[in-house]
Amino acid sequence: METGADTFLFCDGLLLVREGGLDPAGAEALPELRPGREVRDSFMVRPQGVAAVEVSGSPESAPAGFEWARVRALVGAESPHAASACRALGLLNWRAAHRFCGACGGALAEHPVEMARQCGACGRVEYPGPTPAVIVCVEKDGKILLARHAQRSQEFWTCLAGYVEIGESLEDCVRREVREEVGLEVANVRYAGSQHWPYPNQLMLAFRADWKAGELRLQPDEIADARWFDPAELPDIPPKGSVAYRLIRGGI
Ligand SMILES: [Zn+2]
Repeated sequence: METGADTFLFCDGLLLVREGGLDPAGAEALPELRPGREVRDSFMVRPQGVAAVEVSGSPESAPAGFEWARVRALVGAESPHAASACRALGLLNWRAAHRFCGACGGALAEHPVEMARQCGACGRVEYPGPTPAVIVCVEKDGKILLARHAQRSQEFWTCLAGYVEIGESLEDCVRREVREEVGLEVANVRYAGSQHWPYPNQLMLAFRADWKAGELRLQPDEIADARWFDPAELPDIPPKGSVAYRLIRGGI
């Protein structure tokens, strides 16, 4: 049974869902949440027509019959609500970081028509754009390059990734990130797919590329380890639902 498609309730990045499944809790859970909780942000996610509400406090406890879940769990489970929940969380994260005008410092208010915020002082409109990042699966002699990142979760081996810089193409970014992080040159950079990832708000653009030259030389503050793996003998990789999983498994 699908429920709760009208309202998403968030707390500290987690979504309230019905216990034992990943169906969003919906507006009917809100009265139970009100005592001791304050609504930190509330807005309509358009064009989906879903209300997003963030309550303050800690997500340690949930009302009876409900539990807090990671939005990425909905993605992994291929929930019909995953795309809307990702958009709602991405917007929530953007709104939390864009409360004042970047030009004059004035307070931003809801734009009357668009999914945007407008400065009450100078009229500048701020749009919630995602941050583009590339993720690349480098291939050599039938093997793929996976790394453990120094700054991120080290329990998984995953593809190299990095943010797109102003002035470079996506292909330039792929070549630069691979060169900087592991010292390799790559060729035949080709687009594989994309995914919005609301942690905090990235558009992940996935690529494949072929090894062209160089030996592995790791940038220690970025990469803890990097090795070539046979696709039939993979280590622990990111969970299903992530674009990294699909890249590594050959799903895209
Ligand atoms: Zn302004």
